[in-house]
Amino acid sequence: MQTNLSEHAKRLPRADEAERILRSCVHCGFCNATCPTYQVLGDELDGPRGRIYLIKQALEGSDISESTQAHLDRCLTCRNCETTCPSGVQYHNLLDIGRVYVEARVPRSLGERALREGLRRIVPNPTLFAALLRTGQAFRPLLPGALKAKLPRAVKPARPRPQTDHPRRVLMLEGCVQPGLSPNTNAATARVLDRLGIAVTPAREAGCCGAVDYHLNAQDAGLERARRNIDAWWPAIEAGAEAIVQTASGCGAFVKDYGHLFASDPAYAAKAARVSALAKDLVEVLRAEPLERLGARGDLRLAFHCPCTLQHAQKLGGAVEDVLRRLGFHLTDVPDAHLCCGSAGTYSITQPELSRQLRDNKLNALESGNPDVIATANIGCQTHLDGAGRTPVRHWIELVDEAMG
Ligand code: SF4
Ligand code: SF4
Repeated sequence: MQTNLSEHAKRLPRADEAERILRSCVHCGFCNATCPTYQVLGDELDGPRGRIYLIKQALEGSDISESTQAHLDRCLTCRNCETTCPSGVQYHNLLDIGRVYVEARVPRSLGERALREGLRRIVPNPTLFAALLRTGQAFRPLLPGALKAKLPRAVKPARPRPQTDHPRRVLMLEGCVQPGLSPNTNAATARVLDRLGIAVTPAREAGCCGAVDYHLNAQDAGLERARRNIDAWWPAIEAGAEAIVQTASGCGAFVKDYGHLFASDPAYAAKAARVSALAKDLVEVLRAEPLERLGARGDLRLAFHCPCTLQHAQKLGGAVEDVLRRLGFHLTDVPDAHLCCGSAGTYSITQPELSRQLRDNKLNALESGNPDVIATANIGCQTHLDGAGRTPVRHWIELVDEAMG
């Protein structure tokens, strides 16, 4: 695709990257076929090709309107289009560049600003989030249905973590909302890793991965959180930690991007690249281990929902399913497994109607094989799908932990 960036856009820090990505798109439209928002809305501008055009026009100096912003806002960042694209267009990087450019030029309403600011203050703060969650649970019967659906049906308390040390050590990103919404997930991970002879080194100064700020167009704030994590993990990395384990695939996808995001930061480029190289989704660690040592006997019928951040961003589609089958679980077929469930970080709050429609479609697909439980690998998808009050939704590692003898 020919490009002619405006003089202003040419001075952006990521101008060359934007131009390279725009030029890699051949306008074939294959990506529209797998785009969830295009499927639901049927509007070219709510598909990847249309959004690429909108960003191109914006960077070339055309007028930018609220409508431009709305089409970009409606993107789930699911990256299904990247999996489909035959030309390897790095859509999510272009979207990041385009969104922040448009954000600076189209003022949002007071209500939208307050919502986005509120999300940025609450979600990455585990203490504040957990306190609000407890309050929400206490007043649950009085809450409107839409808000009730955002709360977990029950918060399963964390069972004790092992205290054993092992020569093999990993770091683990504890996450921001997961400790409040599903505190047993990371505890179950520590127990399963312990059974395999791997200890988890705590890094208490590490916090939110930065994705929440970054994807709400507060990119500098997101990068600052990333720097804090890199600094918090660095001593353990130098001491020989063999991986930084992620139990939420949304966080994992972002940490794996640190290397790219800091490539032009002389103070952090090398460290960020090392952190990204060490970042592993939990399934990447487990699938390489002798799983018979777990003594697990899975006897549930499971439907696995593979989050977009696992299958499209981290290219690990099928990996959890393989591990679960090795452990004896029966996995039901899930039609259209490539489609997003509508959770997408804070999307279920900023775009509630589209999100609900995608959730209901996803649940119909997941339930079509009559599973006992739906398993997934990302806390956002887990809470969003479970909030419908239908088949229970759990993190897959908790089911493995419960199946261990
Ligand atoms: S992003 Fe890829 S699939 Fe979509 S129009 Fe461009 S080249 Fe074609
Ligand atoms: S990231 Fe997902 S929602 Fe956004 S354009 Fe690509 S396929 Fe569509």
